[in-house]
Amino acid sequence: STQSETREFQAETRQLLDLMVHSVYSDKDSFLRELISNASDALDKLRLESLVDKDLDVDTSDLHITLEPSSNDSAERTLTIRDNGIGMSRDEVVELIGTLARSGTAELRAKLAQASDSAATEELIGQFGIGFYSTFMVADKVTLVTRKAGEQTGTRWESTGDGTYTITDVDDAPQGTSVTLTLKPADTENHLYDYTDQTKLRALVKRYSDFIAWPIRMDVEKTTTTPAENDGDEPVTTTTTETETINSMKALWSRSRDEVSDEEYKEFYRHVAHAWDDPLEIITLKAEGTFEYQALLFIPSQAPFDLFMRERTGGVQLYVKRVFIMDDCDELMPEYLRFVKGVVDAADLSLNVSREILQQDRQIRAIRRRLTKKVISTVDEMRAARPDDYRTFWDNFGRVFKEGLVNDADNRDALLKASAFETSHAADELTSLADYVGRMSDAQKSIYYLTGESRQQIENSPHMEAFRAKGIEVLFLHDPVDEMWVSSGVEFDGKPFRSIAKGEVDLDELDGDASTSDESTDARNAEFEELLTWLGEALDADISEARLSHRLTESAACLVGDTYSMSPQLERLYRASGQ
Ligand code: ADP
Ligand code: MG
Repeated sequence: STQSETREFQAETRQLLDLMVHSVYSDKDSFLRELISNASDALDKLRLESLVDKDLDVDTSDLHITLEPSSNDSAERTLTIRDNGIGMSRDEVVELIGTLARSGTAELRAKLAQASDSAATEELIGQFGIGFYSTFMVADKVTLVTRKAGEQTGTRWESTGDGTYTITDVDDAPQGTSVTLTLKPADTENHLYDYTDQTKLRALVKRYSDFIAWPIRMDVEKTTTTPAENDGDEPVTTTTTETETINSMKALWSRSRDEVSDEEYKEFYRHVAHAWDDPLEIITLKAEGTFEYQALLFIPSQAPFDLFMRERTGGVQLYVKRVFIMDDCDELMPEYLRFVKGVVDAADLSLNVSREILQQDRQIRAIRRRLTKKVISTVDEMRAARPDDYRTFWDNFGRVFKEGLVNDADNRDALLKASAFETSHAADELTSLADYVGRMSDAQKSIYYLTGESRQQIENSPHMEAFRAKGIEVLFLHDPVDEMWVSSGVEFDGKPFRSIAKGEVDLDELDGDASTSDESTDARNAEFEELLTWLGEALDADISEARLSHRLTESAACLVGDTYSMSPQLERLYRASGQ
């Protein structure tokens, strides 16, 4: 029986669709990249499934993607993208296509509501990476027909992007998925937007999807003219249709760096990362010998919405000899480098490898160690050579990167070297620890820091007064993670980190000022003894001791922690996590 129903899109999805339908997004061409990318993923999944599940009765001998534009004389202008991949069940269609089943949707909605102009909206589209729905930038109606490998009944999904979609069972759907776009009226002034034009489609595939590992085919009309046989006759023109593969299918990670253009890397990045931004950094790595593998990694230029969410997507894909094995292979990259995207192709793993096996695998662990070091050193090189790019990196991923200072003792020194900090030295520049140490006087033995909620709050702290007065540089640490690593006994270049809010900081030692010798300190303590005793008693429940300080130049008093006590931020952090 054919069961048909009309359903409403989820609120977030509706808003997103509305945005797409009325999109001013300048890069409308990208819908094709998204559909081809989905088709390619579906083919990867089917091949893997057929390798793992020997009972799955499917023909995988000719996995491919086809583009089918309507011909010039047809009444409706349509473009169909078809694959014979894994397909979707009816429930999957509802879940994957009918809802925007992605984390970060709520944030996206909130940001969309605030987006003031089209440029802001465009940036959000780019940041969120709108996959399937990008079709509504170019289509008045989208029809998806799919049948999942191993299932009998197919599903047809259709929407004009107006808030509802219809979903129907179909009996004669071929296995795999086709997406047919009923195109918006062509911009006749501008040939640029005619997505039935074969030359246009060919150019788009070359530009966006050339590296796709599966053949992308199109029936191409070829006109040949043969000269007339006899003088005076007209030449003979024949039109034939040939099926052509229009992409080169070269796996980018197996090619050397100088053979691949930045443009090609960029499009590949967008495919593997399901992202719309540009990569900030491209990392290639090739290992030969016992463990052979190739890696192509990217550092994005924009943090995805779900960077701090438990249910993240993306990460590094694992291939074995060009066969896709899994997305988001956590075993290949430590958690604190979770923003890194890309591909690792290992030669000597079983295709049947499971996550449990991966966790134990020596080769995977060796790869992970090497990739980790490579990413950190790449970041450090960027810091030294490309300050603007590094700033972009740090603003997006610094907080995540610094989690490594807590979790990865083996690489802590390299991580510290590659990190940068705000300090009292400059208002809006970042400082590396090497630069900080370079500015230290010989007398200074520690790296001073102060933690807080924001730069402003730290700058206004009374603890800063004496340091400012004496011109001693202080690191401003205001990410929650800073508390965790800075108080864990780390050193940089043999110098410990010291909070200026804790214990005694002997500032006089730093400028050789002898006016506070032991005798004068004793004398001053005697002078203020009564006040100090009274303060100690009056505030008994809240403080452990009241003492005279050299650290204040303007304020009358400040609270100081014991050298080994928790800072207020850390206390708050522990309290928030229920400890
Ligand atoms: P993403 O690709 O980033 O997951 P999309 O919006 O492009 O987001 O696609 C949503 C989901 O719909 C995909 O993750 C996939 O599960 C499913 N899907 C889309 N296109 C296809 C297809 N051609 N074949 C099988 N599943 C598909
Ligand atoms: Mg997609």
